[in-house]
Amino acid sequence: MEWKGIKGTVLKDVSMKRYTSMRVGGPAKLLCYPADRQDLAAMARRLNDKGIPYRFLGNGTNVIVSDEGIKEALVRITKMNRLHFTKTPDGAVAEVGGGYSLKRFISECARRGLAGLEKLYWIPGSVGGGIRMNAGSFGQSISDTLTAVDIMNSSGEIIEKQPGKEEFSYRASPVGRSDCVINARFRLRSSDAKKLQEDMDRVYLERKKNHPMEYPSAGSVFKAVGDRSAWWFVDRAGLRGYRIGDACVSEKHTNFIVNLGHARARDIASLIDKIKGEVFSRLGVKLEEEVELWGFNG
Ligand SMILES: Cc1cc2nc3c(=O)[nH]c(=O)nc-3n(C[C@H](O)[C@H](O)[C@H](O)COP(=O)(O)OP(=O)(O)OC[C@H]3O[C@@H](n4cnc5c(N)ncnc54)[C@H](O)[C@@H]3O)c2cc1C
Repeated sequence: MEWKGIKGTVLKDVSMKRYTSMRVGGPAKLLCYPADRQDLAAMARRLNDKGIPYRFLGNGTNVIVSDEGIKEALVRITKMNRLHFTKTPDGAVAEVGGGYSLKRFISECARRGLAGLEKLYWIPGSVGGGIRMNAGSFGQSISDTLTAVDIMNSSGEIIEKQPGKEEFSYRASPVGRSDCVINARFRLRSSDAKKLQEDMDRVYLERKKNHPMEYPSAGSVFKAVGDRSAWWFVDRAGLRGYRIGDACVSEKHTNFIVNLGHARARDIASLIDKIKGEVFSRLGVKLEEEVELWGFNG
């Protein structure tokens, strides 16, 4: 589909099965790929003028889209994937596009002997999605080394922000729903490239051992409760392996819901409700979703 004056691509009625790691979901009305910053701003203005709500999609590894699809347009900035390093006395500042793969970015840093993000290795999202979610693992968070972001706000303005550490918390960031992280800067310190690769290999092996990487999923479904991971509550509620259709509480890690093949989004949503209900009635604990549910009523 062609939009006059827009350089990038706009696709219509695109099934979200292909664009989310859970491999479920109906169509998005529009899927927009801006060619560059100016194009992104022009697309946002066009969508605003037409009264079409929109949101940003990274690698779709933390979202579950309903079977009916979503009314919003989705904007993906995969073409904004510039990567640049500037040396500093004790390491480097990495400047990276929001659409860049987080895993690839971390590999590029490690290859240059730059430390600070290696424990996030193998988180399957994009840099922009990682910042919005304040992604973290093995005691490290993306916000630990983040110094600045270029954000496009809902009016299409691009502004630089230097968010303080206190603006981030567990899986939460100051990036609003209608903000787009188009670029980010990280301050990384010098380290030994070989040692970093070994750390990353360990992270990968730990993940492979504990996470059901062999099935589609959206990672951890629920947030930790205080210091306790959500899997503990799901397990204590007796739900390991519990299944609705092809949506199943993973036997390997009970905070993962896996798609055994033909799960529908409604099976996953029903399983989430079931888990929340059982954990509350048996243990008196309210679990809160870490994954985002898009296009579901209520
Ligand atoms: C197997 C597996 C393992 C996982 N392990 C972890 C883990 O260890 N730790 C962890 O924290 N997460 C983990 N996750 C969850 C997920 O990968 C992270 O939350 C990731 O940061 C999401 O990035 P994304 O690009 O896929 O974002 P999406 O899922 O596409 O979107 C998530 C949110 O970010 C917003 N967003 C996306 N791109 C941008 C942008 N450029 N600007 C502004 N907002 C944006 C979206 O609108 C949405 O609100 C895992 C997921 C899977 C499938």
